[in-house]
Amino acid sequence: MDESLKKAAELIKEVSSEWKEKDQRCVNVLHALVQLTIDKPEEAKKGFTNRELLECVNQYFKHWGDTSEGDLASKVSGEWRKLEKLWGKKEKGIAQRLSVQGINEVPRLKREIGGGGGHSSKYILTLVPANHENLKDDFHANESLEQLQYFEDDVDELKGIARGLSRGFLLTGWRKWVFFSIMLTAILTFGVVLLLFFFGISQQETFGQAIKFVGSIVIILWAEWSLFGGFFRVIDRRVEVAPLWVQPWSSDNDWLLVFEKNKPTAPNVIKLKRYTAKCSTCGGLVRIHQGVFSYPNRLVGKCDNSPREHVFSFDHYLRVGSERT
Ligand SMILES: [Zn+2]
Repeated sequence: MDESLKKAAELIKEVSSEWKEKDQRCVNVLHALVQLTIDKPEEAKKGFTNRELLECVNQYFKHWGDTSEGDLASKVSGEWRKLEKLWGKKEKGIAQRLSVQGINEVPRLKREIGGGGGHSSKYILTLVPANHENLKDDFHANESLEQLQYFEDDVDELKGIARGLSRGFLLTGWRKWVFFSIMLTAILTFGVVLLLFFFGISQQETFGQAIKFVGSIVIILWAEWSLFGGFFRVIDRRVEVAPLWVQPWSSDNDWLLVFEKNKPTAPNVIKLKRYTAKCSTCGGLVRIHQGVFSYPNRLVGKCDNSPREHVFSFDHYLRVGSERT
């Protein structure tokens, strides 16, 4: 078998066993595909059937029911669709890890739909040449092998309000200020209405009330800044911890907003990304946090096992860090 494919399969097996989603059924299917690719290299190219995947899941992972025909195909293909979605977020991090091992190819999950006459669909793990963007990443990666290496473990698009906001923030010139003014007016109006309500109830004009009034305004402005400030700051700083309301459910608040300046070749975007690294001291998981008081105005990588001692700098552009003392 192709040696690179084997390495890729083993790497995916290792990395995915630490994903948060590792217990989901669709990740079981990925594990099965990877396991089959390693165990049966001569068949890896033409792929594996629904039945082979299900039997492998049953043998090595969480039991998934019997192997009677019935709804076998829809069962596997349903999970496959979820897996493809998840893979979209994970592919970049895997490709970056592979490039550190000297393989400039990107692993892809492929499905060949079976026709009629009892032909089952085939599921294949394959490698495709890395595109230009990945090559740029390799250049940085190779330059700094002795340092801590960060990988983009999860990459996602902003959704809903956050997406609308990020587009607004990427406007330029007067449009940008019109956008800001409209937003600020909306926020202030909301605040003023709240305050009027508050005063309508109390109707007392003492010194204490004035203090409360000022206090309320300060609290509202502070709240607005923590809700939306990240979007302002990311434009200058290029990377910022995402506000709480943008963090995906069940995350550990370690997702970042990343401003990608692609103009003039492509539009600028703000993306949601999560970077991790393997701690060079203990092998633990390093995640990104605000530097707060010790490293003001900076983001740092802290190891889960010893967050006060195993602290690393974080350069999201070169994806490297070095130990802080
Ligand atoms: Zn550590």
